[in-house]
Amino acid sequence: MSIYTCPHCGEKTFNPLTKALAGQMNSRGRECSECGTRCVNGKGATIFNAVYTLIAFAGVVYTYLHPENFAVGDVNYEIFVVAGLIISIFLIPRLVNAFCFKMTEAIRLNY
Ligand SMILES: [Zn+2]
Repeated sequence: MSIYTCPHCGEKTFNPLTKALAGQMNSRGRECSECGTRCVNGKGATIFNAVYTLIAFAGVVYTYLHPENFAVGDVNYEIFVVAGLIISIFLIPRLVNAFCFKMTEAIRLNY
């Protein structure tokens, strides 16, 4: 069974882009074009997102506490490292969702 298969009707109605945009279990999800069921990335994706956010946040705190480790000559790259980590919190889970983890039906149905 493909990771782009709708968990409700079994049709392969998602692609890497729509799957990435479907979000995790706490989000609104994206409608299947066959049956209209709202689908989100399942438990694996939700756990990965939580763990990655934690690791990246730890990285931000570490950079803040030890800025001297990110200095090259007279230039300190601390701000770029922090900015990169924060951007990656939004990008990496979506990128991983696009290519990994099975989808599941959204729990929050009515919006
Ligand atoms: Zn469907």
